[in-house]
Amino acid sequence: MKGFRYLENVASLKLCQEECIGCYKCQEVCPHQVFRITERKAHIVDLDACLECGACAMNCPVEAISVEAGAGCAIGLINEWLRERKAGGFGGGFLS
Ligand code: SF4
Ligand code: SF4
Repeated sequence: MKGFRYLENVASLKLCQEECIGCYKCQEVCPHQVFRITERKAHIVDLDACLECGACAMNCPVEAISVEAGAGCAIGLINEWLRERKAGGFGGGFLS
């Protein structure tokens, strides 16, 4: 789902840069390139792409990330599905 967007400025993702040790785990596990590591610190570069899946927080060794994993995934997937369907990007769906 390239171009996936969640709702604007509502993702619960939080990053404590003081705790971050620059291990790259969050950047590696995030499916939507929300993080970038520069100068051995993680940065949130695309908050609105966050699905609140929780993978980054689960893999951070120093608990520098918090996110309320939950409904964001389902809402985001439905929004993306509707957007792609409107754009004609999906074919053969059960509601087509
Ligand atoms: S919660 Fe999931 S989508 Fe959001 S930043 Fe973490 S890994 Fe990426
Ligand atoms: S997983 Fe945690 S410690 Fe590692 S780069 Fe990301 S925020 Fe920093």
